[in-house]
Amino acid sequence: MTPLIAMTSESSIVVVEDDASIADLLDMYLRQSGFRVYQALDGATGLTAVSRHDPKLVIIDIGLPGDLDGLDVCRRLRSGSDVPIIMLTARDNEIDRVLGLELGADDYVTKPFSPREIVARVKAILRRAEGPPKDPSPVLERGGVSVDLARREARVGDAVVALATREFDLLAYFAENPGLALSRRQILDGVWGAGWVGDERTVDVHVRQLRKKLGDSFNLATVWGVGYRLD
Ligand code: CA
Repeated sequence: MTPLIAMTSESSIVVVEDDASIADLLDMYLRQSGFRVYQALDGATGLTAVSRHDPKLVIIDIGLPGDLDGLDVCRRLRSGSDVPIIMLTARDNEIDRVLGLELGADDYVTKPFSPREIVARVKAILRRAEGPPKDPSPVLERGGVSVDLARREARVGDAVVALATREFDLLAYFAENPGLALSRRQILDGVWGAGWVGDERTVDVHVRQLRKKLGDSFNLATVWGVGYRLD
């Protein structure tokens, strides 16, 4: 039985996956790492579980039975929440959809995957989302955007701009390297981590989101054949 009131929202993770063997495997590895796991077998149940348990992170399989597929669930969550999201994909063309739809997922993993890899990615995302820097960092002013690294807050003028975890990390990376033409590979290494295996288009997707959210105050130039430079 699912308790009506969650005991705690500390380090809980909701796994939305209809394949029980995969869900159980993830459940086992995540619990071993100290997370409390709530499983949901379809999208609607997943959304309910997220609102009930206020998890630190959500893992969503794209192929789900019922009215809502994983992309729908991601979109709905993102419309009202910055909770980190990892998508599970079964095929390459699903990756294209995840990237193309700009759903705001923080990461994606292609099946078959190693549970250890997922746990490592979960920890990396949560470290970035939660870990307060030991020394308070300065507020970086870049163009019309100020980036407060300690508070993990981006502002345009006086207005705080809500960014997903990875979007903020990317903005911070640009802000810490002003005036430099950064290749997509450099950006992936710097923001996603050197071990991250994935498509360089991921950078473009997140850049589009930043541009959309920060508007003209964000002086990010596209350097053709290379990548991006923040002026
Ligand atoms: Ca599935």
